[in-house]
Amino acid sequence: MAVSQKGTKTGTAGQQETFQSLNPATGEVVGTYPIMGKDDVQAAVDRAREAFQWWQSIGFDGRKKKLNAFKAEIARNLEELSRLIHEENGKPYADAFLECVMSIEHLNWAAGKAPKVLGRHRVPSGMLLLNHTAYLEYQAFGVIGVIGPWNYPVFTPMGSIAYALAAGNAVVFKPSEYTPAVAKWLEAACARAIPEAPVFQVITGLGATGGALCTSGVNKVAFTGSAPTGKKVMAACAETLTPVLMELGGKDALIVTDDADIEEAATAAVWGGLQNAGQACISVERVYATEGVYDQLVEKITEIAGKVKAGAEDGADIGPITMPRQRDIIAAHLDDAFKRGGRAVVGGPDAVHGAFVDPVVLVDVPEDSDAIQKETFGPTLPIMKVHDVDEAIAKANGTPYGLASAVFAKKRALEIASKLRAGMTSINSVAAYAGVAALPFGGVGDSGFGRIHGEDGLREFSRAHAITKKRFNTPLDIMKFDRDPKLIPRVTKLIKLVHGRG
Ligand code: NAP
Repeated sequence: MAVSQKGTKTGTAGQQETFQSLNPATGEVVGTYPIMGKDDVQAAVDRAREAFQWWQSIGFDGRKKKLNAFKAEIARNLEELSRLIHEENGKPYADAFLECVMSIEHLNWAAGKAPKVLGRHRVPSGMLLLNHTAYLEYQAFGVIGVIGPWNYPVFTPMGSIAYALAAGNAVVFKPSEYTPAVAKWLEAACARAIPEAPVFQVITGLGATGGALCTSGVNKVAFTGSAPTGKKVMAACAETLTPVLMELGGKDALIVTDDADIEEAATAAVWGGLQNAGQACISVERVYATEGVYDQLVEKITEIAGKVKAGAEDGADIGPITMPRQRDIIAAHLDDAFKRGGRAVVGGPDAVHGAFVDPVVLVDVPEDSDAIQKETFGPTLPIMKVHDVDEAIAKANGTPYGLASAVFAKKRALEIASKLRAGMTSINSVAAYAGVAALPFGGVGDSGFGRIHGEDGLREFSRAHAITKKRFNTPLDIMKFDRDPKLIPRVTKLIKLVHGRG
């Protein structure tokens, strides 16, 4: 049976089922890929299990060399990969280029830092076990199943893939059905750089293929996608007690206070809210401005956002909406906002047309409307006036999500950042944390749990192994039955002396 479009099965039985990946701007076919079933997925995981043995045998230094070769392969072919992302996902070339460059940085960091962060190292053994040397090492899980979305088809999955590989795991990756070509490109680049064993494989298909990966016996699943699918993945993984990392959606707020630089805040809010047509988990989806700067900010955002153009032609700032059903969600959020008193200062009710959505800047939208509470994932930017900073913080924290956030302020910037219920905050910029490889990335609440990137990202793909080595015997050894009867009173005295005076 063949499939003519994403998820729509047609054709004759008896052959491998396939699906097509389409250019969202033109509808042209980018590629045709097999819909892999349970057996195909299992075979990939079995191959990964074997590849893991070799990957382990070459140690941290060997893996660092190999991952640097993978990185170089991507860097040498940067333009080709960026063009493919543009074609398959629809985003402008410059945005595609940016996500590739950031991924290269992360791969470099993960490969370089893994030996120090995860390798065996000594830790203090403490007073009671002074005669032991204590070691901590982080061991790879084995095979990691990565399930990824389409909106950043390189940057997002590589946040798991690069860190999982650097930690010594083999990876089986199920990309979104909207971006299989980009995933296959990455797999081929890795195979050229690391021909010895398939340490990174891609399995293609629809949702069920991802479901099969969850129950295939992989040692951990790193899922990036929406909260509803995340719940299904967790339920499937629960059957086999397979641990999960959940990178889910967001409803990120940007706060602007009276002492902020308004020009900077407006520029960042427009870029953070509209880039990639708002199809980013860390998009700015809400702006809260204090009374003293609200009018000025709305005016500046209106001026800047009014120049942002959606289209497929060269020079367009934002591309199409990649996933067709998302256009209905964007239209519904706009509809709800207008019905409930919201006004557009840029764009309007006819913003959704064909594959594209024009930028819409909204004001006067009630706090409990869908445009403020639910993930829109489109180029819309509601701006709300708040009385003071405390109200801004309370409202920013007022959704079940908690992925990222931004603050434009001078005096109280760090204090505000610390009060935000979010995994990441950038002060006087948007999304800067995503480009800092040393910083962890992940959310709280409906935005998920666990971390990619940074040292936490490396540890996410490994398990701690504690080791002690006895060096000599001491008279203070209480861990035996035939101990000196005077020992317990002696240790009691010692403990009271050291700890009893606080
Ligand atoms: P999605 O619909 O939840 O899909 C994510 C992945 O899960 C896709 O590969 C999908 O495959 C697969 N899948 C679907 N059903 C499955 C099942 N039953 N079992 C296992 N896997 C299954 O999300 P999306 O539309 O691709 O991505 C957009 C969402 O991702 C947004 O909510 C966005 O905020 C979030 N996101 C989060 C982050 C982060 O780091 N926190 C980063 C980027 C995006 P198919 O495509 O074949 O259905």
